[in-house]
Amino acid sequence: MVSVNDTTVAPHQLDLVIDFVNTLDPDEHIDALATSAGLGRWLRERGLLERTTRPVGERERLQAVALREALRGLMIEHNGGAPDRDAPLVLEQVARRGALSAHFATEGVAELAADERGIQGALARLLIPVFESARDGSWNRAKACRASDCAWAFYDRSRNRSGVWCEMAVCGNRAKVRSYRNRQTER
Ligand SMILES: [Zn+2]
Repeated sequence: MVSVNDTTVAPHQLDLVIDFVNTLDPDEHIDALATSAGLGRWLRERGLLERTTRPVGERERLQAVALREALRGLMIEHNGGAPDRDAPLVLEQVARRGALSAHFATEGVAELAADERGIQGALARLLIPVFESARDGSWNRAKACRASDCAWAFYDRSRNRSGVWCEMAVCGNRAKVRSYRNRQTER
């Protein structure tokens, strides 16, 4: 049965990509990718990285941060901002390092998968929703808030793709979560 809540989920698992971009919360001064351990934890919690792989290194952490900011750059462009010309190249490097490849099977099955294990594969796996949503145009609905001090990523569900401010989508929730959190701490 389809519940009403299903409409809040972005297609092609784009929520995963949006969550990745939002690992940096400028308002709360929280950056889940500030340490390599934090990056490893984030990827493992989402099933992108096996628990048994070796710890993430600093160079890989910097690659992850570069990927995050390239994705944000593209989402800012989706929101009417200037194009980030380097961003596509960053994504292509990540795809190549993670051996993102097309896999074919019988019965009409074809899918992308990152063949590289470890962190490089985990980062490349984040690009599968981007690729798939780019095929049907829903990738353009993944936007970063136009407020420059915010740049919070959200999925624009408005009928004519006119959503500009995250207050209408995620920021509103974020504010709600924050006030909830504050109430909890006060207790
Ligand atoms: Zn915002």
